[in-house]
Amino acid sequence: MPDQTIRALDGKLFIDGALREGAGARLPVVNPATGEVLGTIAAATPAEVETAVAAARRAFRPWAALTPRRRAEALHRLGELIAADADAMARVMTLEQGKPLNEARGEILKLAEACHFYAEEATRVFGEIVPNDQPGFQSLVVREPIGVVGAITPWNYPAELVGWKLCASLAAGCTIIIKPAELTPFTALVIAAKVAEAGIPAGVVNVLTGKGSQVGQALVDHPGVDKIAFTGSSAVGLHIQQSCPVVKRLSLELGGNCPLIVAESADLAAAVKGATRRSFRNMGQICIAINRIYVARPLYEDFLAALGASADRLTIANGIERPDADVGAMASAEPLEKTKAHLADALAKGARLVAGGKAPEGEEFARGFFFRPTVLGDCTHEMLVMSEETFGPLVGVAPYGTLDEAIERANDTPYGLASYVYARDLVEIQRLSAGLDYGNVAINNVDAGIMNAPYGGRKQSGIGYEHGREGLLEYFNFKHVRLHHGVGG
Ligand code: NAD
Repeated sequence: MPDQTIRALDGKLFIDGALREGAGARLPVVNPATGEVLGTIAAATPAEVETAVAAARRAFRPWAALTPRRRAEALHRLGELIAADADAMARVMTLEQGKPLNEARGEILKLAEACHFYAEEATRVFGEIVPNDQPGFQSLVVREPIGVVGAITPWNYPAELVGWKLCASLAAGCTIIIKPAELTPFTALVIAAKVAEAGIPAGVVNVLTGKGSQVGQALVDHPGVDKIAFTGSSAVGLHIQQSCPVVKRLSLELGGNCPLIVAESADLAAAVKGATRRSFRNMGQICIAINRIYVARPLYEDFLAALGASADRLTIANGIERPDADVGAMASAEPLEKTKAHLADALAKGARLVAGGKAPEGEEFARGFFFRPTVLGDCTHEMLVMSEETFGPLVGVAPYGTLDEAIERANDTPYGLASYVYARDLVEIQRLSAGLDYGNVAINNVDAGIMNAPYGGRKQSGIGYEHGREGLLEYFNFKHVRLHHGVGG
């Protein structure tokens, strides 16, 4: 039976406070667990892009002029409405993205938390008074919202990656036009419906669906969009940076190729548990997924066997039918094919298959994009699995000799998003946390991203931050007001 929520959003755009029928060509949205078409989205036309930008521009000054407390109240209302409807929203996400229902529900609840976090932060944005080089002057550094934000998001976390940009924009006093991924547009539209229900003024939030190369690029190109907040692949991020026709603020949260180092002093069982979670959660379709693991040689064979057994124990299912499955379908054929290509490349170059390596068997998997969580041993940097982001349920493992060698290999990548360490020896921990050239280092855990600490990448993993105070500051311009009052000088 078609999902009622999706049916109500079919072909809609959210512009100037209302869901409206899109005029453009329709694109199908497919359930990756079954291959069924769930509904269609309308590719926003150039005229609709203009209407959305005009609405966001009109709404900007009045929204920015509200007191932070009023904007915070709106965000709190939005968070409450989202949490109250988490089950229906999670169902939409699972149907279009493939992750198990319980996990989708967790993501919706984290979006609600983000609303509350940014609501509180909104009321704590201060300026500064800075010393002057002459008496009689005062310098005020004030923070002003940037303006209209174009948010372009990927499909792997369809609620949170929209939400961080939406909440930070609203808290700062910016207005926003969201262009969600083609694979997962309905989650963004259902969030937009909650925005309307929360009474957030027309034009403050807009959602335009369609292809990145057209609708996303139109936002990048548009002189009426003051900032692009992008999460996605490094290739598209670089293209956006290079193709921007006017100077505008950019935050780019891009791809990763994240290492885990299991040091000689590690708690082996904890390391296996962490590696299993961060390599395979969401079928490895996470920018901070563990792609490659370096294990101190004395622990290597035990770790490999335990990780293989742990991967084999993961349950895989249609995430609607088994809400508590460990993993569901992959989001589309593209990451599945890349996973298979990286696996074949590694096997051809001498890797050892320890777990997985094929699709699960059975009628229920026949039409969806399923693959068993896969562990490869004896990997080298000549293999794609160690040098490129797979974005699938595949992890490569290799032994190391010295800690310096582990650090050097972990840093041997153009990416710098997240890295992971299991170690109990304080010297090992200190050397690793200082030596790893990454925006995030998680030690004896695999959850580097928490809401009140900055989250961002280095090198080809991006520029700018989300989360925390630093994430909110990305939505402000600083203004220096130098006042000569003459007192004392
Ligand atoms: P993608 O780069 O293909 O697409 C991301 C978004 O950009 C989509 O909405 C797409 O329509 C749009 N887009 C495509 N071409 C465009 C263009 N020319 N102009 C403007 N927009 C355009 O990425 P994806 O396949 O959806 O997502 C997977 C990638 O995202 C992975 O590389 C992953 O590591 C990365 N990612 C990064 C983070 C992070 O926080 N650093 C988080 C999640 C995902």
